[in-house]
Amino acid sequence: MKERVNIINLCIEITRRCNLECVHCLRGPAEDVTISKSTIDTLLNKVKQITYLTITGGEPSLACDEIDYLLKGLKVHNINPSKFYLVTNGQQNFSRLANIIGEGIGISTFLTKVMVSQDPFHPPISEEVKSEVEKTPFADIGYNPGMLYDEGRAKMKENSYSERKSPRPTVDMEWSELTNTIFGDLYLNAHGYLINGGCYSYKTQDQGDEVICHISKLNMGNFRKAIYHWKT
Ligand code: SF4
Repeated sequence: MKERVNIINLCIEITRRCNLECVHCLRGPAEDVTISKSTIDTLLNKVKQITYLTITGGEPSLACDEIDYLLKGLKVHNINPSKFYLVTNGQQNFSRLANIIGEGIGISTFLTKVMVSQDPFHPPISEEVKSEVEKTPFADIGYNPGMLYDEGRAKMKENSYSERKSPRPTVDMEWSELTNTIFGDLYLNAHGYLINGGCYSYKTQDQGDEVICHISKLNMGNFRKAIYHWKT
């Protein structure tokens, strides 16, 4: 059996569902797709360690069952991220999400962060959620008005924010054969594909230009091929 890989920076698109339609959203219109448990199982079986783990979407609070399954699976497989990060819009299921993360992530609250988006693009959260955030040691309310990439809804011509877009950041993907470690921003999408970087709309992801491989085929050879492809 091939040795399992170490991933320095992994972002998991847990769902493409969302309960909002923010004008700046780089993902574009929501889709009724949530990561499958078999994709999570494959990840857990192919990966040895993840250093920084981010859960994104879509809106993660609409996939609490999958987050619970993932975090419990990490424990069973002895995968212990050093840092954990998740952003939610805080409109639904905040306390359930916070409980799952509090019980599941097993690292210090200092290194765990759940950010509730409150900025000109997101509607206000309720007073009830505000007080739950205050009681949750690893949760905070985040103001992040500057992240507009040339993707998704921010790209749409009819959107006044389309003038404020920035180019998508480029990502360098590297690996170490010696330690079987993948460096760079690796993104596992809700369909189970590994992508080079995470600042893409669903549409761009599905065009496949940045796809490294399906998670079921994760091995260092795929990375060698992908890096060669992007560098030439
Ligand atoms: S920015 Fe987040 S909350 Fe807003 S539409 Fe996009 S995924 Fe949903």
